[in-house]
Amino acid sequence: MNIPLKLLKQYFGYISFRKGQEEIISNILNKKDCLAILPTGAGKSICYQIPSLIFSNLTIVISPLISLMKDQVDKLNKKNIPAIYLNSNMTNTECNIIMKNIQLGKYKLLYIAPERLDNRNFVEIVKNTSVSLIAIDEAHCVSEWGHDFRKSYLNISKFISLLTPRPVITAFTATATKLVKKDIINILALKNPFTLTTTFNRENLSFFINSPTNKVQFLQSFLEENNLSSGIIYCNSRKNVDYLYDYLSLKGYHNSKYHAGLTSFERNKYQNLFLCDKSKIMIATNAFGMGIDKPNIRYVIHYNMPKNIEGYYQEAGRSGRDGKPSKCILLFSPNDIFANKFLIQKSSKNTFHTLDYQRLNSMINYCNTKKCLRSYLLEYFGENPKKNNCGNCGNCI
Ligand code: ADP
Ligand code: ZN
Repeated sequence: MNIPLKLLKQYFGYISFRKGQEEIISNILNKKDCLAILPTGAGKSICYQIPSLIFSNLTIVISPLISLMKDQVDKLNKKNIPAIYLNSNMTNTECNIIMKNIQLGKYKLLYIAPERLDNRNFVEIVKNTSVSLIAIDEAHCVSEWGHDFRKSYLNISKFISLLTPRPVITAFTATATKLVKKDIINILALKNPFTLTTTFNRENLSFFINSPTNKVQFLQSFLEENNLSSGIIYCNSRKNVDYLYDYLSLKGYHNSKYHAGLTSFERNKYQNLFLCDKSKIMIATNAFGMGIDKPNIRYVIHYNMPKNIEGYYQEAGRSGRDGKPSKCILLFSPNDIFANKFLIQKSSKNTFHTLDYQRLNSMINYCNTKKCLRSYLLEYFGENPKKNNCGNCGNCI
């Protein structure tokens, strides 16, 4: 009998595995380290959650974002899977209770941020506990070639070397460039890992670049034609979000908006209106979207050019999760180049400026290329697309 499939149905309510999931799970169960490169939304979590249910000891998930950890743990607990997270907002008393329970073997899954590994007490306790599996989420963070480097990710391999017997180590990311892959394997000291890359191609998405003289006018005529569909409009600043929100509201659209300058009450309100289709248009900065799983988004428009392709593809990829045809439109103007250069100069992490400029250049080249936009994107992510004319992007059509 296929135990992973049985657990998939029993706990998660899904009838079959998606591309890649089954292979990763069976390698983990054979105690093989894994490096899995899967686009956002492909279903990474199940790849380590199902093995955690089968292994007898603890699974530790190292994840960079507190909000995502909480979300995952809540979901698991609802399915009666004993999972917990430790984060920096907890009191010492709360942490101590959880540590005791870890020693007692009460959990199947423990979610932590990499910074937790700097805590001696934590390391001591885990050293004396049996760990079956470690899953490192957003593993590109170990590499300065990955787009969001985090220093504490560098401590993971030292932590692992303290554990006996050595648990199975698995790393997950959506970044597929060769340099990042090499860094992940070296820095995490993966042992001869099974490596799986599923294609980043999303056939149902069509990509377009437009350089309208008047972006607002362009938006307005697009929205007139598409007023029954849900979509996201991404802007590069809170000011632009507020401006478009006010402008389109005056024109009678039921908009939502989202940026870090709103209160969490407002953000929740707008997000929920959008998620339940009461408002069709979400106007937002890149603060919006992490962990959002809305299947019927028919278009993502970038009102400004983003600062790199990683970010662009992640945001654009929020459209068409249900597999139906959807549009990804980038509105380009030379001003966006200056705005991004200014932001890079202003940012404090001086050492990575060169990389930031390189990424920006690839983004600018995308906006100017005459070749197939899909091929450009897939090549950027290290793939060799079979066709160099997809027939379904602004340049091919
Ligand atoms: P990722 O971490 O790769 O971005 P998630 O693990 O959050 O993706 O999964 C994305 C969505 O896909 C979730 O809603 C998840 O429940 C769903 N999902 C995962 N695996 C399957 C499957 N085999 N069948 C159907 N839905 C799935
Ligand atoms: Zn094309």
